[in-house]
Amino acid sequence: MDSAIKRIALQRIRTLFSLAGEIIHDDPVLAQRYVDVARKVAMAARVRLPREYRRQVCRYCKSFILPGVNCRVRIKQRRESHVVITCLNCGKQMRIPLRRRERSKP
Ligand SMILES: [Zn+2]
Repeated sequence: MDSAIKRIALQRIRTLFSLAGEIIHDDPVLAQRYVDVARKVAMAARVRLPREYRRQVCRYCKSFILPGVNCRVRIKQRRESHVVITCLNCGKQMRIPLRRRERSKP
């Protein structure tokens, strides 16, 4: 139906995130603005952010977070292996399970 809109939205989201990643060291405020725009584009087109970008946005404070810049990434091996991402902006943690056998839908 509106797959053209979704495709264009995803293209814009990719562009915005890559711009944000390039500029975060020089201008973190502008990088955050790019990400805010990308999230609005996603909402307007009713697409989910692609997984690689979802991990770059704090679930709690919606900051653009990059490892080594403003978040900490730790891999925990206890129980099921998972990655813990700590947002250094708000201090909250996000857990991402590492599934050895990929059972999610294609
Ligand atoms: Zn945060």
